[in-house]
Amino acid sequence: AKWVYRFGDGMAEGRADMRNLLGGKGANLAEMSSLGLPVPPGFSITTEVCTYYYAHDKGFPDDLKKQVDDGVAHIEKIVGMKFGDPNAPLLVSVRSGARVSMPGMMDTVLNLGLNDETAAGLAKQSGDERFAYDSYRRFIQMYGNVVLGVEHHHFEEILDLHKSDLGVSLDTDLTAENWKKVIAEYKAKVEEELGKPFPQDPRTQLWGAIGAVFASWNIPRAITYRKLNNIPEDWGTAVNVQAMVFGNMGNDCATGVAFTRNPSTGEKEFYGEYLVNAQGEDVVAGIRTPQHLTLAGKKANNSTLPAMEEVMPEVFSQLNDVRQQLETHYRDMQDIEFTVQKGKLYMLQTRNGKRTAQAALKIAVDLCNEGLIDKKTAVARIDPASLDQLLHPTLDPKAKREVIARGLPASPGAASGKVVFTADDAEDRAAKGDKVILVRVETSPEDIHGMHAAVGILTTRGGMTSHAAVVARGMGRPCVSGAGELRIDGKAKVMIVKGHKIQEGDLITIDGGTGEVMAGAVPTIEPQLSGDFATLMGWADEARKLKIRTNAETPLDARTARKFGAEGIGLCRTEHMFFDGDRIVAMREMIMAEDVEGRKKALAKILPMQRQDFVELFEIMKGLPVTIRLLDPPLHEFLPHSAEEMAEVAAAAGVPVDAVAARAAALHESNPMLGHRGCRLGITYPEIYEMQARAIFEALAHVKQTSGDTAEAEIMIPLVGIPKELTLMKAIIDRVAAEVEAESKVKLPYSVGTMIELPRAALLAGEIAKDAAFFSFGTNDLTQTTFGLSRDDAARFIQAYERQGILARDPFITLDADGVGELVKLAAERGRKTRPDIKLGICGEHGGDPASIHFCAQQGLNYVSCSPYRVPIAKLAAAQAAL
Ligand code: ADP
Ligand code: MG
Ligand code: MG
Repeated sequence: AKWVYRFGDGMAEGRADMRNLLGGKGANLAEMSSLGLPVPPGFSITTEVCTYYYAHDKGFPDDLKKQVDDGVAHIEKIVGMKFGDPNAPLLVSVRSGARVSMPGMMDTVLNLGLNDETAAGLAKQSGDERFAYDSYRRFIQMYGNVVLGVEHHHFEEILDLHKSDLGVSLDTDLTAENWKKVIAEYKAKVEEELGKPFPQDPRTQLWGAIGAVFASWNIPRAITYRKLNNIPEDWGTAVNVQAMVFGNMGNDCATGVAFTRNPSTGEKEFYGEYLVNAQGEDVVAGIRTPQHLTLAGKKANNSTLPAMEEVMPEVFSQLNDVRQQLETHYRDMQDIEFTVQKGKLYMLQTRNGKRTAQAALKIAVDLCNEGLIDKKTAVARIDPASLDQLLHPTLDPKAKREVIARGLPASPGAASGKVVFTADDAEDRAAKGDKVILVRVETSPEDIHGMHAAVGILTTRGGMTSHAAVVARGMGRPCVSGAGELRIDGKAKVMIVKGHKIQEGDLITIDGGTGEVMAGAVPTIEPQLSGDFATLMGWADEARKLKIRTNAETPLDARTARKFGAEGIGLCRTEHMFFDGDRIVAMREMIMAEDVEGRKKALAKILPMQRQDFVELFEIMKGLPVTIRLLDPPLHEFLPHSAEEMAEVAAAAGVPVDAVAARAAALHESNPMLGHRGCRLGITYPEIYEMQARAIFEALAHVKQTSGDTAEAEIMIPLVGIPKELTLMKAIIDRVAAEVEAESKVKLPYSVGTMIELPRAALLAGEIAKDAAFFSFGTNDLTQTTFGLSRDDAARFIQAYERQGILARDPFITLDADGVGELVKLAAERGRKTRPDIKLGICGEHGGDPASIHFCAQQGLNYVSCSPYRVPIAKLAAAQAAL
């Protein structure tokens, strides 16, 4: 079998579309090499070897060794140096690379091939002894840690001792002779820890590193990252072995990272950072303050350090050409890594860059306008869930803010929360319901769970491409990085800035759009939905077939949803209108009534209030459908509890308190969600539904008379399981409609339908459709009743189900296509058979979940309904489902 794919010198055996086999990094190195870009030669060992490795007790296929040897020979030939040559040694890096990028999850080993002999050879060949021994000690440190498992602090302690003996503080102050001593001690330490010497044979080193990359697929932080990002365990990683180039050979050398467009705003500007005379991940590690690539970047960030454009104009202009070439080729914004060795540019990585939601929109719209992609591709590029970041509030510019520190605007959005200093504390407090801001000197992959739990992230060190910034942007968390004025005392759990002492648990606010850090909580305002957002939503509207409605009962929600482009209301829960103020008293009076007369008296008080609610909704939703669900929850939920509440109800109804208490006891239910609720209320107390129907119809008539047009009412009967339930309720509604039409002389635009939320209703959908102009799948209850799983109690054990792989996903978040979905499918089929033009939709949480929306689109439903803030997300998901 072919396990190894070579690249370099303008050729490659792999391609960009082979990422499953070669990993993202390997596939793109191959692609760049084929494009003729300056890529150091190398080869990729496929992900199939990783699979083999785990299937064969960490062993390798027999024919791998020969292929790796050939790969090394391929590099040697292009570079003109030999691996292990004591005079002019070829050195390589060993780099991991999965199908999708897993930033910082796997460790790369640089400078591999160095030993006592080759280090001396490198010194002679480069004419730079210090560089050679600096590289050798870096290698022992990295290899010792990543491959041999010797803890980092051992090396740091040795280095620190040397520095204090020499009276210096910077690594750069150490001479070749100093490094030689450090190296001797490093090696002794490794031997002491492992009981055997540091491997001197380059081939042994190489195989050790290859094995370590495969083994690192299963280290805990990699597993955590895969869990959080839904990356399958069985994908595996590839290994890339590549000739080293050196950014640390002097001041004509550099290493850097860049984005072909600004990853925060999406602006078409070259955006990146670099360090002179540095190697590997020095730029992202936040050890030295990175410099900007462009003069514009330098100016925008008030940097005093010279830009690459000034220092190395020729290499910069070459890099800028590569930037354009890569964008045109990949038709997307790229995130690139490069190194300059003695004035010569080398490309080490390219991939589609992570970006904020705002940048994603701007880049998609711009690329489309530039003719690089079409509208459909632009629509497909945006992750619907990421729009959430844009729909959320930013700081109110008029609000007073006490800025206590400034950092870099690393990831946009504003957040207020309580300060915590460790990822574990963030997780603990968040689990208790606190909003927390995670404050760290810098973050590392070990902090991911805490970053996830936090509403915002603040670091005191690191640039726009630091770990914190990259991860926060990916997660959509606001982040301010590199706020250098803050001093953190991790032990005491306080931070100090300009005389402020901020303790764990104190409130702060960060603005990831400006980089400001403020004491206390600062009020926020709603986002603007124009520009690129509107353009892309317009393209989504052209593509999608599903209509998107909203769940709303208040005028505020209805207006918000209209602003987001909702095409009607899919679920107006009338009981939500009964809970405020005076209404709850009248409602309780109605429930407590002993007879029809008593109920009618109380209902008469509610009627005008309910009518007024509908008037407003029908005005806002003029020309659009509004589905109104008649009273649904168990009466139980409206019962008075305290003595005070009982007295209030007694006074309103003019009955003794004792009577109220007795009635409350009589109405108590032991399983209310399966009890006296839904249309069962309409069956036992028809006057309730009659009143609601009248309120709806009078409101319709009123709005139509006063403004010439109105919404179209779809009256929905909940919890039907027996066809006759619907027949009876529909008769009442039609009768009231006829009455109101006669009284008002207005033709009322209305229809009657039902929810399908019980398995029996789904099974009898053909029969039920005789009386239903529409079905709305109430997938919350349908999930609950199909699984026999209480939504209110499931949280306690559902995680255990997910952990053990019994359920892939929480069925209350993503519609269970296999079971609940099967009922939806069946009911849709049976309903359509009876009534071909039956309108079908879903309401409930699933209506805003992209995966569930895909399912609804597949079933050919007419619409989904979701909460107002999810309307744009649902529209985009619906468009993608139709592409
Ligand atoms: P990651 O996946 O964590 O980004 P990489 O494999 O890209 O890890 O390696 C990290 C860094 O190491 C690179 O950005 C680059 O600076 C440096 N590096 C890797 N391979 C080489 C090489 N062949 N020559 C010089 N530097 C290298
Ligand atoms: Mg890394
Ligand atoms: Mg990299």
